Amino acid sequence: MKPSELQTLCEAGANFYDRGYAFGSTGNLSARIDRNVWITPTGCSLKGLTPGSLACVDLQGARLNANAPSKEYPFHLAIYERRKDAKAIVHLHSTYSVALSCLDSLNPEEPLPAITPYYFMRVAPLAVLPYFRPGSAELGSAVGQAAEAHDCLLLRNHGLIALGTSVNEAVDRAEELEETARLYFLVRNEPTRRLSPEQIEDLRKAFPKKR
Ligand SMILES: [Zn+2]
Repeated sequence: MKPSELQTLCEAGANFYDRGYAFGSTGNLSARIDRNVWITPTGCSLKGLTPGSLACVDLQGARLNANAPSKEYPFHLAIYERRKDAKAIVHLHSTYSVALSCLDSLNPEEPLPAITPYYFMRVAPLAVLPYFRPGSAELGSAVGQAAEAHDCLLLRNHGLIALGTSVNEAVDRAEELEETARLYFLVRNEPTRRLSPEQIEDLRKAFPKKR
């Protein structure tokens, strides 16, 4: 990963903010470069970040510069610890994913129906985690465990997490999850045609998970 990933990270944050995926000071993004993790600072909006405003911590959470990391940094570190291939993480409180995470009827085995191939290509399988207090060690450990077998996670009553081998991959996954959740709310009270098991199997073969 090149240092320009930090610039890409800042631009992705501003882009999320501009399109309403992030608001106020919610949402946090990080990138791992060598043994260091660069993460958006605590209490700041994702708009207007620069590489110099990012916090830098090591994989144990020790601060390596003057900027305080997002209070949700424990789950970022837990993911990097468990997933050696992960180089970037996006965490958003984007509206439709949060709405989905609050549904009493949510089925953790199939949180979203198979309505588009892109969900399978970029998101599935989607892990659903119970509610934990934001920033808690318990949330960190549950996220780390789930990330071993998932690139996308939905945190009950909280939001989404997407990881990737680059900032752009993590961003693509987060956007696909948010947009699939939005589609779901648009069609869920309408008779809906789902992909067949054969079509899903065909997608799995054509786009195997590298993990
Ligand atoms: Zn959060």
